[in-house]
Amino acid sequence: MSRSHAQAFAPPQDSDAARRNLVGLSRAELAAAMAELGEKPFRAKQLWHWIYHRGETDFAAMTTLSKDFRARLGERFTVARPAVAEAQVSRDGTRKWLLNLPDGQQVETVYIPEEDRGTLCVSSQVGCTLTCKFCHTGTQRLVRNLSPAEIVGQIMVARDGLGEWPGDDAGASAEGRQVTNIVLMGMGEPLYNYENVAAAMKIAMDPEGLSISKRKITLSTSGVVPEMERCGRELDVNLAVSLHATTDETRDWIMPINKKYPLRMLLDACRNYPGTHNARRITFEYVMLKGVNDSEEDARRLIRLLKGIPAKVNLIPFNPWPGSFFECSDAATIKRFADILSAAHISAPVRATRGDDILAACGQLKSESERRKKSERETVVARP
Ligand code: SAH
Ligand code: SF4
Repeated sequence: MSRSHAQAFAPPQDSDAARRNLVGLSRAELAAAMAELGEKPFRAKQLWHWIYHRGETDFAAMTTLSKDFRARLGERFTVARPAVAEAQVSRDGTRKWLLNLPDGQQVETVYIPEEDRGTLCVSSQVGCTLTCKFCHTGTQRLVRNLSPAEIVGQIMVARDGLGEWPGDDAGASAEGRQVTNIVLMGMGEPLYNYENVAAAMKIAMDPEGLSISKRKITLSTSGVVPEMERCGRELDVNLAVSLHATTDETRDWIMPINKKYPLRMLLDACRNYPGTHNARRITFEYVMLKGVNDSEEDARRLIRLLKGIPAKVNLIPFNPWPGSFFECSDAATIKRFADILSAAHISAPVRATRGDDILAACGQLKSESERRKKSERETVVARP
């Protein structure tokens, strides 16, 4: 199969029960699979290059391998991605892919082009167990962890869709790349699926493959304190923390995980996050909810909470979704909040809302099937 037609290209899907998908295996696992076939380790190296550098999905086209070896690979293995159920493009250029997984579940991946970069927002779970009250994903009942193949497969689907493998029309010179950054900010809590996220990110970072530097990868957590240190030590990716409140009372209410890991514990874990210094700050995400967390007092409390932590704050205008209870703070309130932080020398940009016309903005992701099923059942949450 030729790989040059980005739009028409339909790569194998990860639903071939008889054959094992090679995507998602670590280098060592791939070498072990080749050893089982009686092949030398350098064969695994060649395959790795075809799979992750070239984006090739057809063994027959892997011309540096012998014909016989290619045939044996084809009998036993696939190089598959999650199947694209729907690809949407927003009026602002944001793209969203709805992906079908082999068990019938679905996840979404979002690509956000900007002038100086292209960011892929990757999901780590189907749904999320954490039920933050402002988040659409948290209302989804079906939840499971994504496998390493399903996580790294999202990056490969984006490269397929954007046509940016070497040899594709759009090409993939390092400078001309479209997917330059990865944010684990899609569906799910990445630190509740740490092992699989870590395996996928190690593949994404591999310089002989997808080659996305750890400096260009950001993992966002709602504050799973016990996993934070390990994440910094083992993966050394940038950290973003969904803070969203400045008192335990409010955070307990809008983010139930706070009852388990309250603000003090969370901020201590941030202070101890490996590799944090002034040149590499922790991003604190703060969704602006009218009348809930957006007062001047909140802004001042936030400054006190962040004392001693190399931090920047991302103010996120609340994105509504069908049945959502909250309202976004007024523009003037958001500006005042940002100005108070800036006056204390905390960088506090307001995150531009992207892709909201296709429900691709922060907190709007939810599987289409779930959305249809539950749209009439969304519950309104009242403050106790
Ligand atoms: N579970 C992780 C990763 C998801 S990141 C986490 O919570 O950090 C998605 C970001 O969008 C988080 O900061 C999340 O709190 C925020 N978010 C969720 N719902 C939102 C909404 N409706 N509007 C704006 N931001 C939202
Ligand atoms: Fe889960 Fe993050 Fe949404 Fe909370 S904000 S429900 S942790 S995806």
